[in-house]
Amino acid sequence: MRNRLGDRPHSGIRFVLTALRRGVSRRCPHCGIGPLFSGWAHHVERCPSCGLVYERNPGDTWLFTIAGDRLPVAVAIVLVYFGFARSHRAMGLAVFIAMIALLVWTSPNRWGVGIALHYLSRVFWPDPADPVPEDR
Ligand SMILES: [Zn+2]
Repeated sequence: MRNRLGDRPHSGIRFVLTALRRGVSRRCPHCGIGPLFSGWAHHVERCPSCGLVYERNPGDTWLFTIAGDRLPVAVAIVLVYFGFARSHRAMGLAVFIAMIALLVWTSPNRWGVGIALHYLSRVFWPDPADPVPEDR
C-alpha cells in the first residue's frame, strides 16, 4: 500500500524534519501557515489555512504529549531528587527555578512537536476516515 509520502516530492526525513520544525514553531505541521494555538497555549481545533484538524479525537496526542511534556518534567524531578547542584544552595535554587521557567516557557513548543508527531503518524499510517488535507 502506498502512503501519502510516496506522492510528495520532499518525502522522507526532510518531510519529517519540516513537520517537526513547524510544530516547534507552533505552526500547522501540514502547511506551516496556520497557528496551533491562539494566545499562549489555547489549542486551536483546526488550521485556518489548510483545514487540518490537529486532534481528531480528544486524547489522540496523549502519547506524544507524555513523551514531549512529561519526560522532561520527570528528568527535572530526578535531577532534583539526586541532588543536582545541591552542594551550593543558591546555585541549586537558581538551577531549579531556571528549569521550571524553561519547562513552562517551552510548553507550547513541546506541545507543538507532539501535534506534529501525531500528524506524521496520520500521514505515515493513513486512515480513510482521517481528514488530513491533500497537498495543494
Ligand atoms: Zn495548515
